[in-house]
Amino acid sequence: MSELIFFQPFFKQVLWGGHKMREVYGYPIPGDDTGEAWVISANPHGQSLVRGGTYDGQSLKDLWDHHRELFGGMEGKEFPLLVKIIDANDHLSIQVHPDDEYASVHEGGSQGKTECWYILDCEEGADIIIGHHARTRKELEEMIKEGCWDDLLRKLPIHKGDFFYIPSGTVHAIRKGTLLLEVQQNSDTTYRLYDYGRLQNGKPRELHLKQSMDVIACPHEGSDTRGPVEDHGAYEFCTLVEGQYFTVTRWNVKTDAAVSQDYPFLLIDVASGSGTLDGIPVKAGDHLLAPAGYGVIRAEGAMELIASHITEKH
Ligand code: ZN
Repeated sequence: MSELIFFQPFFKQVLWGGHKMREVYGYPIPGDDTGEAWVISANPHGQSLVRGGTYDGQSLKDLWDHHRELFGGMEGKEFPLLVKIIDANDHLSIQVHPDDEYASVHEGGSQGKTECWYILDCEEGADIIIGHHARTRKELEEMIKEGCWDDLLRKLPIHKGDFFYIPSGTVHAIRKGTLLLEVQQNSDTTYRLYDYGRLQNGKPRELHLKQSMDVIACPHEGSDTRGPVEDHGAYEFCTLVEGQYFTVTRWNVKTDAAVSQDYPFLLIDVASGSGTLDGIPVKAGDHLLAPAGYGVIRAEGAMELIASHITEKH
């Protein structure tokens, strides 16, 4: 008998972290510098554990390693996705991630990283960095060398409900006053391009200029990946991205919706509101996995669900 599998997050304290996750979701965060909650993670650097049910206390990695039937017998050494909530109480460094090919050659066979961000909440006037303004690789290298960061970096204002798709090779940074949900390839490979000249314990943090310049896509080509909002009365549905590695959709449930699970697995994040999923009470900050063959999930209440699955190869 198939069941919905709920997780408790792994928390990470960082210099730029805050305490919003306690106030907004009631999470038992370890300190007022909690920047990340790895809410659905099988990554060795921070694993989420099953809360309740048949697999209570086991890690997602345990399930992936020993119960592959829950994932429809899908292949692969590592669970492919990672979901985080990020609370930025200060600017994060400007970063870029390699693609699979570069990472496998230069990072000892690890995966690249494509990610996406759904803005859960942000302060008035908050912004984000996605991409850059250099037209050629030569211009990019010169601007980096000369430190023309204000001219180089593409800064955008953000609002609650915005969505950004960040394929590998895209320069990006989360900035102060942002609470977001991140869905990404399960990888930790990050190159730091610029850290605002800040010091940590009296020293600047390591930068990876050579690797960054190798992998930054030039010129920046951004596109809005969002599909149209389909209004079904009882709920609204929208595809946020159908990317190479994952597909992310948003279900804005007003009274009820039938969410179909015909994928190897479906990850669901309750982004706001509350209600029930097949009769189980859920609220903002809950994260779960519907296993292979689960079928239709009946959602009732007033809540916003972000659902992610791997993209089938056509
Ligand atoms: Zn990133």
